[in-house]
Amino acid sequence: MWLRIILFVCSGALAMAIVMKPGASEEDIERVIKFVKERYGLRVDVSRGEFQTILGLIGDEDKVDFDRLSLLPGVEKAYRITSPYRLVARSFFPEDRVIEVKGVKIGGKNRPVFIAGPCAIESREQIFRIAKEVSEAGADILRGGAFKPRTSVHSFQGLGEEGLEFLAKAGEEYGMPTISEVRSEKHVEIVAKYVDILQIGARNMYNQDLIEEAAKQKKPLLIKRNFGASIEEFLSFSERAVAQGNKDIILCERGIIPIGRGRQFTRYSLDLSAVPVIKKETYLPIVVDPSHGTGRRDLIYPMSKAAIAAGAHGLMIEVHYNPNEALSDGPQMILPSDLKKIIDVCKKIYLLNSMED
Ligand code: PEP
Ligand code: MN
Repeated sequence: MWLRIILFVCSGALAMAIVMKPGASEEDIERVIKFVKERYGLRVDVSRGEFQTILGLIGDEDKVDFDRLSLLPGVEKAYRITSPYRLVARSFFPEDRVIEVKGVKIGGKNRPVFIAGPCAIESREQIFRIAKEVSEAGADILRGGAFKPRTSVHSFQGLGEEGLEFLAKAGEEYGMPTISEVRSEKHVEIVAKYVDILQIGARNMYNQDLIEEAAKQKKPLLIKRNFGASIEEFLSFSERAVAQGNKDIILCERGIIPIGRGRQFTRYSLDLSAVPVIKKETYLPIVVDPSHGTGRRDLIYPMSKAAIAAGAHGLMIEVHYNPNEALSDGPQMILPSDLKKIIDVCKKIYLLNSMED
């Protein structure tokens, strides 16, 4: 189905959708499909959700009489999708995407997931110790960079493949799936060989070749919002991954460039309004990274609480047992004991949120 949508989208055809009523019968659905095919020559892709069936329509929208379609028996509404990100649009597929990685569920109404670990894998001992301590604190997924994006060529660049090997073994030992950044196209296969989720860093959000190559790996992909990107751009570049046939995309808000004097206090400005906006716009899960978003250890607790209160599907937090000795991002890394406090309070906030739903 996806391939067909991609071909149409690429050829410039437009997308429309018909949402059937929750109680629509099989005959109603078949009648509508027959009608749009015969009357307007449209292609139809049927998405059967738990409660409602959505018909994705692709073809020449100028011929379509939407008012007429809306009046067909069993139809709730019919409309055109005009946004540049159609394949990830909630208006095209309304059901939340839930991504399952080694038993950890990300997205939908599931409790938030906690992704934790060091900025960079520094040694076998370091990642094993952090894996043990974050798993005891309640983390679900282990993070660690092996190919680090660094401003200076003189800074620690990461351990490369050896680091990934340590990360994979530590994840296995403590029962956590793993995530690590793919910095360049030339590393896609190596990273995919070791980790469960591939990460596209903020600097690479605009790198369409990298996103497409990484998406082809048939593994979940976490894409970080670039610090200068609008939400529309963020979703449009994520659409590129989905257009490769990979719907297991996790979005990550990690702060945007602060305006004026904001810079004096935080590394970036965490845009928490992006969370409810993105949840309205797309069915993909959205997690928040307060570590890079603020650059400050003392802000991780309040901003984590705020992110979960805003409805985030998870958090990505940098953790180290000795942040002051860390080879990168020491000022924003918290201790495993601080992580436990954050996870405990965030689970309570999630429960409060679910009582409102
Ligand atoms: C990271 O998560 O390791 C990282 C470098 O973050 P960002 O791409 O958001 O700067
Ligand atoms: Mn970092």
